[in-house]
Amino acid sequence: MMINEHKCTSLPKSGVYLHFDDEVPAWTLNIQKEATESDLEENHNLENIGDTLWLTSLNILYCPYCGEQLPGLESIDKTNYGYFQHNDFSRWN
Ligand SMILES: [Zn+2]
Repeated sequence: MMINEHKCTSLPKSGVYLHFDDEVPAWTLNIQKEATESDLEENHNLENIGDTLWLTSLNILYCPYCGEQLPGLESIDKTNYGYFQHNDFSRWN
C-alpha cells in the first residue's frame, strides 16, 4: 500500500502538510494560510474563520522539516519534478 501522507514531530501543527499526489505523481508540500478573526475584519470578501486565504504547493523529494526521504519515489519520473503554484483566494467573490 502506498503511503500518501507524511507526518513527523517537526512539522508545524497546522498550515503545512505533505501529501502524495497520485495524478502527477509527486510528493507535494502544501502551505496554506487560514483566515483568523482579524483577517475577517480586514477583508470583507472572507466569510468564515478557517477559510483558506492562500495556498502554495510545490513538489518535494524530502521532508523539509525532518530531512527524511519520502517513500515511493524510486518508480517516479523525476523529470517532471519542480512544479509549484500559488493560489490566492482572498480576492474571490
Ligand atoms: Zn518530516
